[in-house]
Amino acid sequence: MRFDIISLFPEFVAQCAAFGVVGRAGERGVLSVHGWNPRDYAEGNYRRVDDRPFGGGPGMVMMIEPLRACLADVRAADPSPARVVYMSPQGAPLTQAKVRELAAHPRLVLLCGRYEGVDERFLQAEVDEEISIGDYVLSGGELAAAVVLDAVARLQEGALNDAESAVQDSFEDGLLDCPHYTRPVEHALGNVPPVLLSGNHAEIAKWRRQQSLGRTWLRRPDLLDESALSKADRRLLEG
Ligand code: SAM
Repeated sequence: MRFDIISLFPEFVAQCAAFGVVGRAGERGVLSVHGWNPRDYAEGNYRRVDDRPFGGGPGMVMMIEPLRACLADVRAADPSPARVVYMSPQGAPLTQAKVRELAAHPRLVLLCGRYEGVDERFLQAEVDEEISIGDYVLSGGELAAAVVLDAVARLQEGALNDAESAVQDSFEDGLLDCPHYTRPVEHALGNVPPVLLSGNHAEIAKWRRQQSLGRTWLRRPDLLDESALSKADRRLLEG
């Protein structure tokens, strides 16, 4: 999968993609990340990419032309169809379902705003969707783009050593993940639940499901669609 990051600080997002699972995925050729700076497409000695907002008020707005010229080059750099996403606090909330949807595209262009944001005409003409990483305002879209990049990249085939682990993560089946334990079995902070040492796979799966249900009910009841729970799930939740 190919990622193109349009940002005044493209190296920042590229750096975020250099570590851990995403970094390894890059080394394995599972994904590639390309940074593009609209300033390289700005004209004049000062290479201005922003200007004052019409109507007055504080802050600056990213101008259409440097972004348009930049995006034209981004599109031309690869023949695969690009989905253009503007990172924006006004966008649709990023969820695991949305991450899966984005992961199915061969190519994502992530546009990072700065200042008060981007001239609305550019957004209307060139952007396929806007995505928010939460109900708060960042000073720029780079961190948000890094979040999308990380979440999408780890779902690419070959990115994780064990693809099964992504399927078992929180939100994948609508629930939070169960708790995890590793060595030592006994510790001053507590012991590993005996069922996990039993070797009984059916009982372990049942325990994990029960933990997931219980945690979701306690921590994120908004995620629990009780009507979608099986009879067995209901029994686990009540038990
Ligand atoms: N004036 C804008 C508003 O209130 O909707 C906020 C602009 S913000 C200071 C600058 C840039 O940060 C935005 O253009 C966007 O790219 C990015 N950004 C800020 N908060 C974000 C969020 N929650 N999710 C995604 N991107 C965000």
